[in-house]
Amino acid sequence: MSEREVSVDRTPLIVGNWKMNHTRATARAFCAELGELHAERPLPAGIEIGIAPPFTSLDVVGDGLAELPVFLAAQDVHWEPSGAFTGEIAPGMLSELGCRMVIVGHSERRHLFGETDERVARKVAAVRDAGMVPILCVGETEDERDADRTRAVVESQLRKGLGKIQPGAPERLVVAYEPVWAIGTGRVATPQQVEEVHGFLRDVLASIGGQAFAGGVRILYGGSVKPGNAAGLAVLPHVDGFLVGGASLEASTFAELVHLLGGAPETGA
Ligand code: PEP
Repeated sequence: MSEREVSVDRTPLIVGNWKMNHTRATARAFCAELGELHAERPLPAGIEIGIAPPFTSLDVVGDGLAELPVFLAAQDVHWEPSGAFTGEIAPGMLSELGCRMVIVGHSERRHLFGETDERVARKVAAVRDAGMVPILCVGETEDERDADRTRAVVESQLRKGLGKIQPGAPERLVVAYEPVWAIGTGRVATPQQVEEVHGFLRDVLASIGGQAFAGGVRILYGGSVKPGNAAGLAVLPHVDGFLVGGASLEASTFAELVHLLGGAPETGA
């Protein structure tokens, strides 16, 4: 354990981000298959497992996961509780459907839909106010990494994203480090790159909320995680789990990842 940390339990966490994939019918089939896999080989205890389907399948997946140790999450949210915001979904609508966590500031929202740090911060605060946990995504582009700006970029995104909340209990926040160049590209970051950024993010969290806070916040890695590379990442001291896109779409692959994470040594370095 390094001096900068306090030893605490950080329950490993894996969240599948389906993005704009799966109809209600295929979402139902995914849940049924995951249920069968769980009956054959129970999903590991001692870790937390979530699925973030499209809004249109939240109820189907919520029902389909009811008997499984898997919670429901959402991919995005608006910050206002209600009002004239055509096409948007309010935090209370997600918690009403049983969502426990909400992904905020995913790089696809930032880069394809112009999501600003200001909006991300409002969403983080709104998710917390609604009693859910934000999964705040940060990550650099390839150009930013090449220009040696990775630390500056992720620090800025993290500080601004948390700018409208008090740190509070560490379990009320999850951070996901997702290098943009690794998302959906098959180019996973190396364990050294991941550990370096995760350790840095934990230092930034410590400067925001103190050592105990930083030691308790889970920091997930995301970016082309697959069964073939997950084990080498799961053992890293500052990696507390994964945010998984493509490899979460098939129940068998997702279950394999869950078992890999569940079998990794306890985090809490
Ligand atoms: C993601 O979109 O959060 C993600 C990590 O995608 P993928 O696993 O497909 O790279």
